Amino acid sequence: SGGGGGGKKGGGADDAAVITPRAEDFSAWYASVISSGDLAEGSPVKGCMVIKPHGYAVWELLRDDLDASIKASGAKNAYFPLLIPQSFLSREAAHVDGFAKECAIVTHHRLRAVPGVDGAAATVEVDPDAALEEPLIIRPTSETMIWSMFAKWIQSHRDLPLAINQWANVVRWEMRTRPFLRTTEFLWQEGHTAHASPEEARARAQQMIDVYADTAERMLAIPVTVGSKSPRERFAGAEDTLTIEAVMPNGWALQAGTSHYLGTAFADAFDVTYQDETGERQPVYASSWGVSTRLMGALIMTHSDDTGLALPPAVAPVQVVLVVIATKSPEAAAVVSPFVDEVTSRLRAAGVRVEVDERAHLRPGARYYEWERKGVPLRLEVGPRDAAARTVMAARRVGAERAKFSMPVGNDFEGTVRAELDALQAGMLDAARARTAARIFDVDTYAEMEAALGSGDADRVGLFRVAWKCDEANELAIKDACKGGVRCYPRDGQAAAAGRKCLGGGEPATHIALFGRAF
Ligand code: AMP
Repeated sequence: SGGGGGGKKGGGADDAAVITPRAEDFSAWYASVISSGDLAEGSPVKGCMVIKPHGYAVWELLRDDLDASIKASGAKNAYFPLLIPQSFLSREAAHVDGFAKECAIVTHHRLRAVPGVDGAAATVEVDPDAALEEPLIIRPTSETMIWSMFAKWIQSHRDLPLAINQWANVVRWEMRTRPFLRTTEFLWQEGHTAHASPEEARARAQQMIDVYADTAERMLAIPVTVGSKSPRERFAGAEDTLTIEAVMPNGWALQAGTSHYLGTAFADAFDVTYQDETGERQPVYASSWGVSTRLMGALIMTHSDDTGLALPPAVAPVQVVLVVIATKSPEAAAVVSPFVDEVTSRLRAAGVRVEVDERAHLRPGARYYEWERKGVPLRLEVGPRDAAARTVMAARRVGAERAKFSMPVGNDFEGTVRAELDALQAGMLDAARARTAARIFDVDTYAEMEAALGSGDADRVGLFRVAWKCDEANELAIKDACKGGVRCYPRDGQAAAAGRKCLGGGEPATHIALFGRAF
């Protein structure tokens, strides 16, 4: 059983340790996995969260791996201002349409003290004399700022292609927020590229959505579908939006990353052209692409269970926890202590992230349960008898085979642990793939889809693969009717649309669409 229940009796139980069963209340389950896993916490600012050390360490592992992939793709990192002149946003009409309604605006640069009346404490208020000449918006995304700089950096064909990436925080004033999935301020990377031809810019957008799909599967063990958004779901200002979509365990879809082909919209808005070999001025084509801390939400939902968080080894800050069982006997301690040191240093030397838990004031069961809730993939227990026999008791966080097993600490110990971690990583991806496949349904009629969505049977909710005529009115009507929408047109399998009728209006289908509810 992996000691899962032991902690509750072990005296370490508090409210934060209680996991709401997923089948009972999905949202409450998600929130309890985050708090009991010590990943993040609410903050004094509505919609903004504090990412705690354990959660931030996961983000850093993900970020560092993606950063290496982005650099390998040929982009260079840079940093641009948080504040953007308000006028920049209005330069591109579609862009302002999309972002104006969720912008935070800085209008003043000073507060002033207001003395308290009748002995009350002094307060502060906005100093009306300190209004900015032009308000500044807090970046919701940086196309405008970056293209205002590209105008200086791009003159000749020799300046292209240009690929810049920024790791930053952005603010979008969202009305409904959820930890990691949709927050007012979030962390992300945003890549911005400039090209001499539309083909090259489109290829760059494709290249990066593939980088995201690879990161999601290899690091996070989250299977994704690569597709493109319907016109009404595109990024504000994009001619094409590519997306990776994942299915969460409640059957809802999650847009986990996006990559846009922007045409010449931003180059035109900021008067960016380049001189070709013959000295002619030519238009500049753009892509932009981003993933955010939303990926953390996808990670948490994909693998966690009613015991709490479960992390794939690749993004686990602690891959192996070594729980040392206390002993009162000095003779036994003299055997355990050097053995623990040996095991720890050998694993560290092999590149395994190990933590040693020697806390004697907590019962073993309580400690097991705590590490399980934090998602640690592999637990090794060491007591006097194990140390004397040069073995450890091992327990996996996930998988069908969760019974403890004995592992000898022989010559090949590091190799065995590495193989265990690799197997756990692969097993989590396989299990997630099987769950995803079981939630993608092929349907021919709207009635079938509506019946499944309205059935109240959670196992019948998922993504519906349908023949579809790309049409905005069609999409809106069906969205209102079933709370679902076109998540994407999958890149693979579009040929199957030929000769079929649209699930919406019965007209000839133009696409195969994945339809469903989304976070
Ligand atoms: P976009 O610039 O709208 O294409 O978004 C880029 C990435 O940020 C996508 O992966 C989105 O899923 C993610 N994202 C958008 N809004 C939020 C938000 N409020 N909180 C967290 N992630 C977000």
